[in-house]
Amino acid sequence: MIRKVLSYHCIYRCINVAKVIFSYAASALCHKYIGIGTPFTASIEPANYCNLRCRQCPTGLGMTDRQKAKMTIEDFKKTLDAMLPDVMYVNLYFQGEPLLNTDVPEMVAYATKHGVSTCISTNGHFLSQNMSERLKQAGLDRLIISLDGADSESYSLYRTGGNFDTVIQGVKYAVGAGLNVELQCLLLSSTENRKNEILEIGRKLGADRITFKTAQFYSQDALMPANEHHSRYKKGTLELKRGLRNRCWRIISSIVINTEGEVIPCCYDKKGLHSYGNLLKAGGTKKALCDILNSQRAIDFKNRVFSNRKCIQICTNCTE
Ligand code: SF4
Repeated sequence: MIRKVLSYHCIYRCINVAKVIFSYAASALCHKYIGIGTPFTASIEPANYCNLRCRQCPTGLGMTDRQKAKMTIEDFKKTLDAMLPDVMYVNLYFQGEPLLNTDVPEMVAYATKHGVSTCISTNGHFLSQNMSERLKQAGLDRLIISLDGADSESYSLYRTGGNFDTVIQGVKYAVGAGLNVELQCLLLSSTENRKNEILEIGRKLGADRITFKTAQFYSQDALMPANEHHSRYKKGTLELKRGLRNRCWRIISSIVINTEGEVIPCCYDKKGLHSYGNLLKAGGTKKALCDILNSQRAIDFKNRVFSNRKCIQICTNCTE
């Protein structure tokens, strides 16, 4: 019986993914949103605030005008249930530090139980031995830990209020618990010339992967990398090197649901300005989510992305 249900889900999900791929290709070709299929990845935000004040982070700097909140386990279950069986992969983070919500392992366990892969991205300050073991037991598939520096001094230049040694200790606990750990480092003027040292730290700690990522900037900053290859922007500007194409795989294949229940197009919409609607206020059901995703507001937004993306401010600073 279980095998039957699993294989049904597997076929159902594969068909849905094929529809989503078709939807993307057709929308890009027609320069308007052609809605077929349902997003199969999601980000759900366990907490919308953070313990750090990172230099370019709208949340850490208190620029998002949101009341501090954590998602309850009941609201999480409702949210995930509304997305099943289509959703296959859930990021348990968006704006805030997810591990400020101590129910996160329970959320991971619930997703795992329903055949959904999970990923958490954390600043590493709340990775105690106990938390690491709970996450492992819950079945977490991937843990990203931000390590934007080779030592305390370089780390603190970007991660204001953070503690390098605490993060290193957190990585040790996570690796010790057997979690799949990725150390992620932003390419900044403070890190771009220290890649080898950071790689060495990661190897010594036993991380599964060490990755380097270009950083998003909202204003000119001394931490912008000097090497143009390390930046997503043209040298000395905030203009994307890649240019803007009227297409977006992300809004077709995934959705973001923030702590308050707002259904948001993507993680670039930090303030939820383009929310399609509030899932929790609408009852948190599958039908409510379907109505929100097919609302005029959602369709209008997607049409604009596929026809004239540069008119949407968040899309002008996005590498998608
Ligand atoms: S900012 Fe715009 S282009 Fe980028 S992921 Fe979001 S909707 Fe797509």
